[in-house]
Amino acid sequence: MTAVDERGGMFTLNPEQEALRQKALAVGRELRADGAKWDRDNLAPYKEVCARMKEAGLLGLTMPKEYGGQGGTALDYVIAVSSILRMSQTWIGPEPLFCTTGPGASMILLGHEAMRQKYLPQVVQGELGCAIALTEPEHGSDLTYLEATAVLDGDEYVVNGTKAFITGSGVNELYATFVRFDDIPGPKGVGALVIEADRAGVTSTPGPEFVGDRGIPHGDVRFEDVRVPKENLIVGAGQFGWLMSAFNMERLHNSALCLGISEAAYDEAVTFAQKRESFGRPIIEFQSVYHSIADMWVKIEAQRMLAYRAGATAREGRFPDAHDVTVAKLHGSKIMTEVTMSSLELHGGYGVTLDYPIQRIHRDAIASVVAGGAPAVLRNSVASMLFPDRRFSQTRGS
Ligand SMILES: Cc1cc2nc3c(=O)[nH]c(=O)nc-3n(C[C@H](O)[C@H](O)[C@H](O)COP(=O)(O)OP(=O)(O)OC[C@H]3O[C@@H](n4cnc5c(N)ncnc54)[C@H](O)[C@@H]3O)c2cc1C
Repeated sequence: MTAVDERGGMFTLNPEQEALRQKALAVGRELRADGAKWDRDNLAPYKEVCARMKEAGLLGLTMPKEYGGQGGTALDYVIAVSSILRMSQTWIGPEPLFCTTGPGASMILLGHEAMRQKYLPQVVQGELGCAIALTEPEHGSDLTYLEATAVLDGDEYVVNGTKAFITGSGVNELYATFVRFDDIPGPKGVGALVIEADRAGVTSTPGPEFVGDRGIPHGDVRFEDVRVPKENLIVGAGQFGWLMSAFNMERLHNSALCLGISEAAYDEAVTFAQKRESFGRPIIEFQSVYHSIADMWVKIEAQRMLAYRAGATAREGRFPDAHDVTVAKLHGSKIMTEVTMSSLELHGGYGVTLDYPIQRIHRDAIASVVAGGAPAVLRNSVASMLFPDRRFSQTRGS
């Protein structure tokens, strides 16, 4: 780290936040040596990483204390996720925070008390992980067109449908699953249920192999006549906006991930540029090199401000504001690949060898761009928030 960012960048943290940052950096550093193997084998010991995060006291950060959580804020979440990622240099590092504190856990928090009591104490302890199952083979950005259905039959919902690209499928025990209730078309029909992975009729398959974000499947999950108790309802039809308020934790995670990946790429650029010599001098002494590093730093600082603000303005300290978190994720997904690519380029030919981590960091960056919402779709959201009186309908013929 350079002198300025030993203070956590230019953002002033209070002593508790700084202590959290230091803890997350330390635990991230412990994982750094393993990332290359997890990527190469496309297999990470997720439960061990989760146990390590629990030991470090980093699970359940934003969950209320009454469910065993730490009662922290969304800003704590951003600080922890970005710092673990920066030091571990692998997206797997903060994934246990995502599965035990992030959007799945936050959606359970939206549900009624019996469901919170049923799951949250085990979720915040890392005993149950909650993946989020929205995307379908034919519907990603057009989430409101989703086809998975839930039909009430007595005291149970019967769920049918297929989900795609589900991070942590086959690894987590729960799916916060978006479904259409009562065949009601459009967003009005979309709600969510918690579905246990071991329920009869649930099948997970690994799905296609990814170029980055490897080690845990982003697989397919099929629901065939799965009977789910009524008490597993998060929200039913007509509350799509409310549901998305908790889903915004996904975008907050992505914003922090963009920050952490960019910082990891920056660290590698700084280390390499000071060691590598050309024409008898360290390459960092060439103006094009130190300008490139300065540009990376400015982009990272802007991302830190946006991600921290999105954390700091979260409602009840927990549910991120749609505007702030969308802006942070959109900016993050843009600068992240620019920063990782600049760092890779500064490594010369070594940048594309498996001997240096920058190629893996760059692959994780490109794999993360559309997760949680493609940039074009985030631009649609920003524009509709800027111009609320105009309709930017995406539907043909409307
Ligand atoms: C690493 C990774 C992890 C993921 N994890 C999960 C997960 O855990 N759970 C989950 O549910 N999903 C997950 N996803 C899926 C992800 O949310 C979707 O890939 C994403 O929403 C885009 O959907 P799509 O892939 O179907 O692309 P499409 O919706 O087909 O879009 C393709 C492209 O078309 C353009 N486009 C589409 N619609 C519009 C529009 N209205 N305006 C402008 N341009 C448009 C955009 O450029 C977009 O990139 C993950 C994806 C990745 C890559």
